[in-house]
Amino acid sequence: MKTYIDFKNRVKAGETTCEQELSSILAAIESQKDLNAYLELNEDAILSARESDKRFAAGNPRPLEGMLIAVKDNIFVKGMRATAASRMLENYRPIFNATVVERLQQAGGIVVGKVNMDELAMGSSNETSYFGGVKNPINKEYVSGGSSGGSAVAVAAGLAHTALGTDTGGSVRQPAALCGTVGFKPTYGRLSRYGVIAFASSFDQVGIFSSNIEDTSLIFDVINGQDENDQTTAKLDAVNTFEKLNEDLPSKFKVGVLPDDMLKQLSADILEVYESKLEQLKAMGAEFHKIELINSEYWVPTYIVLTTVEASSNLARLDGVRYGHHTDLVVDDVDYVALNRGEGFGDEVKRRILLGTHFLTSNSQNNYYDKAKQIRQLITKSYAETFTKVDFMFLPTTATAAFKANVKQDDPVKMYLSDFFTTSANLAGIPAISIPSGKNSLGLPIGMQLQAARFEENKLLRFAKALMK
Ligand code: GLN
Repeated sequence: MKTYIDFKNRVKAGETTCEQELSSILAAIESQKDLNAYLELNEDAILSARESDKRFAAGNPRPLEGMLIAVKDNIFVKGMRATAASRMLENYRPIFNATVVERLQQAGGIVVGKVNMDELAMGSSNETSYFGGVKNPINKEYVSGGSSGGSAVAVAAGLAHTALGTDTGGSVRQPAALCGTVGFKPTYGRLSRYGVIAFASSFDQVGIFSSNIEDTSLIFDVINGQDENDQTTAKLDAVNTFEKLNEDLPSKFKVGVLPDDMLKQLSADILEVYESKLEQLKAMGAEFHKIELINSEYWVPTYIVLTTVEASSNLARLDGVRYGHHTDLVVDDVDYVALNRGEGFGDEVKRRILLGTHFLTSNSQNNYYDKAKQIRQLITKSYAETFTKVDFMFLPTTATAAFKANVKQDDPVKMYLSDFFTTSANLAGIPAISIPSGKNSLGLPIGMQLQAARFEENKLLRFAKALMK
């Protein structure tokens, strides 16, 4: 994996240039094409790299000067395709940048290319992509995780310094854990979603992949803050976490840990790493509190009901009339939209649109949608209370390490349950981060997760850094 901060120091020391770094990354992308991480490369990257070299030479580099970034294909980069890995948007080219991309570029960041993902961000293995699955670089028989599989693999395989993804129910943290990178999902509302293709609007958040906390913090500082184009961004001043990353931690702090019955869900390799990290936390001064996170059996069902409802509404605009794939068959009006959508969407997306539509029909709205909203409030409240007692929650990111390709694809319920430990942070809108924490006997990475109260990114990143040592 590459580290931007090291790279920047090497440029400053005259040991390399942005142009050389870009060429070596492009060569690596070419030689590892079989991972299927990239969908499109940015032809203008070379011009930006030369511009960055000039700025370094003139002694005025911007905060992210020359950082080579992979961008998930549901985030707009002006002039490049944004397919969200769906046939529906196969030829869609947005004419503006997402706010997060605009801010990265203003700070000197360079988009290397757009990366693969599960179709419209629905999936946990990157196998629902219209462009084929993404392979785990540690062992190509295994999945990368999803839905931001391409972003995780770009970082894990050294095909970018860092990457952007989106996290609706774990899509940054879970692939980060499975590929051995850092994956950070900030508080709901902290980052703009302007120019990000919506999946479930009350859950979606842009997230950051990197090899280390410093790089994550640098990016977060540049992209966070209110955006007049996204009314859901929090009306708070932008925060600066990087300056405070090295501040001393309190000598004593409180950490919420899983109750024993939840530990039973973990595979042996994950449990072993979890326990060894608890030892490390203890040595750092942690006092543990077993936290009974209420309604955990409803986390995934509540997530599925609410996100499919929101998706069925968000995706209604993709009808092939105004946007998206249109059929070549000659048919009457009604069939036209049905055929466009039938041909344009894959099975998982169709399943979710149907589920969401079903949950909104008059017969099931009371039984599912309204109940799910109530449970979401209880989960949010339970987290808020938890964070009056502890500084963090510490839990695994996933219950197992990466699984083999093609094993869960035909079993949606099994696939949905792989998100057990990640969905609750999106239900409650809190920040959470997955950090690489070890490997199992097959050499597959294992990630652990820290969660904090809303808008406590500063604290979260400082502890994550300490815990990664
Ligand atoms: N794996 C989850 C799902 O399939 C999460 C997706 C996401 O965060 N975008 O919905």
